[in-house]
Amino acid sequence: MPAKKNATARPFYGMPVLDIVDDTVYNIFNIRCTILCYEDGIFAMEFHLTIAALSGETRALELEKSRLYDVIILGGGPAALTAAVYCMRKGVSTGLITMDFGGQVAETSSVENYMGYKYIEGIDLVDKFREQVRQFPIGISEGRKIAAISDGAIKHTTLDDGSVYQSRTLIIATGKSWRRLNVPGEREFTGRGVAYCATCDAPLFSGKRVIVVGGGNSGIEAAIDLARVAEQVTVMQFLSQLTADTILVEKLRQYPNVDFLYEHEITEIKGAQAVESVTVKNRQSEETRDIPASGIFIEIGLLPNSDFSRGVLEHNENNEIIVDCACHTSCPGIFAAGDVTSVPYKQIIIAAGEGAKAALSACDYIAKIHD
Ligand SMILES: Cc1cc2nc3c(=O)[nH]c(=O)nc-3n(C[C@H](O)[C@H](O)[C@H](O)COP(=O)(O)OP(=O)(O)OC[C@H]3O[C@@H](n4cnc5c(N)ncnc54)[C@H](O)[C@@H]3O)c2cc1C
Repeated sequence: MPAKKNATARPFYGMPVLDIVDDTVYNIFNIRCTILCYEDGIFAMEFHLTIAALSGETRALELEKSRLYDVIILGGGPAALTAAVYCMRKGVSTGLITMDFGGQVAETSSVENYMGYKYIEGIDLVDKFREQVRQFPIGISEGRKIAAISDGAIKHTTLDDGSVYQSRTLIIATGKSWRRLNVPGEREFTGRGVAYCATCDAPLFSGKRVIVVGGGNSGIEAAIDLARVAEQVTVMQFLSQLTADTILVEKLRQYPNVDFLYEHEITEIKGAQAVESVTVKNRQSEETRDIPASGIFIEIGLLPNSDFSRGVLEHNENNEIIVDCACHTSCPGIFAAGDVTSVPYKQIIIAAGEGAKAALSACDYIAKIHD
C-alpha cells in the first residue's frame, strides 16, 4: 500500500448504527468511512468506529412519564442540545425528546464554519454535542417521534407510541427534514434505491447509474459526491437552468460521467426488489419515457418538522413556527429555536445560538411562575 502521506483523504460516509431492543431504538455506534485517493490512482477505504455508549462520562437518565419537568426540549440537533446545556446549567429540571442525536449535522460530511473548529466532520461534532449534554442528569427519550403537543399551564407532549410527558414549558427545536417528491414508488423504494443524503449513501451506488433530482446547491453537491463513484450521474432539473452557485456547477462539469436533463420531472419510480428505472416527463412536450437507474437522489430542499404544532402555534407560509427575537412563539410558555422557526439563515451556529436564547427565555418564564 502506498504511504499515507501521499494520499488525499475524503471523509465520505458516516452513519449511526441502530439497534431495537424492547421496541426502543438505541444508537449503538457510528461508522465513518474515509476514501483515500493515492497519487498513483489507487483507492483505499478506512473505517472508523465510535462506540456512542462508551464515549465520555454520562449522567443522563430515562425521561419519566410521572414527572412534571420545568422544561421539555423537543429535538436532538444543535438548537435542542445547546438549549439542554443552558437549561441544565440554570438548574431547571429538563427532559429531551428526540428521534436521534445530531439532526442534519449527522448528515454533513465536513463543517468548516462552526467556531472553534477550522474543520470537523459532522458526526464528530455531534459526538461532542452529545457528550456535553450527557454529562448532566437530564431525562432523555431517544428514538421516538413526537406526534402532538398541547398548550395550557401544563404542556403535554404525546409520542407516536401514545406515551405522554408533562412540562411547564416546551422548547421546540425539531429542525427540518428532506422534502419528498411524492410520486408513486418513492416511499416503497426509500432505502432500496431512493435516497436523500448523498453524503451518507453515495458509496452504495459505486459503479451504478444514478439520477439526482434538483439543480440547486444540494443537488449539485450530491452530484459531485456521486460522480466520484457512480458510473453515470444524470442531474434532473425542473427548471430550464441550474440554480446552484457557479463554483459548484463548474466543479461538477469537470466530471465526464455527468449529464443534465432540464425541464423534466419524475412521475414514477419503478422496480421489483429495488429501483430499476424511473418514468420522466418533459415539461414542455409532456412526453414521457423510462430511464434505467439504480439510484434516485432527491435533493429538492428541506421542510420544517412542525406538523405536530399545527393548530397550537402560529406558522408562516413555509410552515415554520413564528418566533420573536427572544424565541417566544404565539403560545405563552412554548419557545422554539433553530431551523424549524421563522428565523432566517439556517446554519449550525445560528441554531445553537437560538437554542441558547430559547433556554434563557424558558428559564425566565419558569422563574416568573415560581415568583
Ligand atoms: C447536507 C447538509 C449540510 C449542511 N452543512 C452545513 C455546514 O457546513 N455549516 C452549517 O453551519 N450548517 C450546515 N447545514 C445546516 C445545519 O445542519 C442546520 O442549520 C442545523 O443542523 C439546524 O439545527 P436544528 O437543531 O435547528 O435542527 P436539525 O439539525 O434539523 O435537528 C432536528 C432534530 O429534531 C429531531 N426531530 C425532528 N422531528 C421530530 C419529531 N417529530 N419527533 C422527535 N424528534 C424529531 C430530529 O431527529 C433531529 O434530531 C447543513 C445541512 C445539510 C442538510
